[in-house]
Amino acid sequence: MPGKRSLKLYEEARQLFPGGVNSPVRAAVKPYPFYVERGEGPYIFTVDGEKLIDYVLAYGPLILGHRHPRVKAAVEEQLEKGWLYGAPYEPEIELAKKILWYYMPGGMIRFVNSGTEATMLAIRLARGYTRRKYIVKFEGCYHGAHDYVLVGAGSAAAEYGIPASEGVPEEVARLTLIAKYNDIDTVEKIMKKHGDQVAAIIVEPVVGNAGLILPRDGFLRELRRIADEHGALLIFDEVITGFRLGLRGAQEYFGVKADIVTLGKIVGGGFPVGAVAARREIMEMVTPVGKVFNAGTFNAHPVTMIAGLETIRVLEETNPYPAMREAAKRIADTLLDAAGRNGFDVTVNHIESMVQVFFKPGGVWSYDDAKQSNRKLYDKLHEILLRKGVFIPPSQMETWFLSAVHTREVIDDTLSAIEDAFRELRGAG
Ligand code: PLP
Repeated sequence: MPGKRSLKLYEEARQLFPGGVNSPVRAAVKPYPFYVERGEGPYIFTVDGEKLIDYVLAYGPLILGHRHPRVKAAVEEQLEKGWLYGAPYEPEIELAKKILWYYMPGGMIRFVNSGTEATMLAIRLARGYTRRKYIVKFEGCYHGAHDYVLVGAGSAAAEYGIPASEGVPEEVARLTLIAKYNDIDTVEKIMKKHGDQVAAIIVEPVVGNAGLILPRDGFLRELRRIADEHGALLIFDEVITGFRLGLRGAQEYFGVKADIVTLGKIVGGGFPVGAVAARREIMEMVTPVGKVFNAGTFNAHPVTMIAGLETIRVLEETNPYPAMREAAKRIADTLLDAAGRNGFDVTVNHIESMVQVFFKPGGVWSYDDAKQSNRKLYDKLHEILLRKGVFIPPSQMETWFLSAVHTREVIDDTLSAIEDAFRELRGAG
């Protein structure tokens, strides 16, 4: 439970930042946001002296937990050499080679500073390459905070009920056509009408921004087929799934190749990052070779490159994926059991190290399903768990993430907290 010191800081912050925060979901923590003193392994320590097991992990990047000793050492070594050059630096080559090996063999990559920038460039690139104007995106998928994709958007846009942002000109929003995730008919319908003008279909292969929604069997393969049929590109937004579903992400997991892959979060090891990888002939349209513009003062930031590289090395050397998958399954099973025993009919979705519970029976396969979850109960669960020392996403529209350092004991503590929380939730109802 956030304490007095956090409350004082939050009140001050509300005078300075809209909603007291610098990214909207942070304001959703109940009853008010806690302030962080430091992070260590699977824990966040608050300025109120609390120790929280962290299942938010900065919304995905911290797959090795907080302050991993190897990432810390690599960053410290980098700081000794300076931290920004505005000129090429060897580690960017190493990181590029690693990412391309896993995500786009034989292709090329451009590093940017956020997932937002990555999808913005990917879409511009698809439009430049195909010389077409429309994109198809899915309701509830979130691809960042820029104009092309703030239509039918998930994550905080959904949490705050503004899937279409004010300030995006109608002329721009009209170019983004909205289909329903896991409903191939809605894609076919759009493509029948506009297919020869669609530059790309962009999708989160696993939706992590409308809660957690998995693709139905064959859905992604069908997208590949439809894109090919109409000469559109397929963009996999792997900002979340990249290095989370496994070293090779969603393309390998589901056996479907994309034309363009966007990455972020994990590949920066906890520092600001985005990346666009695509086949060579597509990427060669980007400046300075081609005429699709991209530039950035901080692109391929040396500290980010080093932190991303070390993170991927640790993942390669230690293969934490099976243990994380097992831990996530234990959490999912306990959520289902504890909910059931206390009279709540819930759906729990999980894949690899991602989990989410919905207060809705009968499965969650679309944004419409996710919206039917009883958000009041989710918020209450969040609040109770926080009081019990477990920090889960403050919004139903986000996903729980596990890290490689969420050990068996940490998971055991979490499971007891979940059991207690559902008992309390029943009592409160
Ligand atoms: N794409 C996906 C799938 C995301 O989940 C996010 C952020 O959560 C983004 C893009 C935007 O990334 P960023 O917040 O780094 O701009």
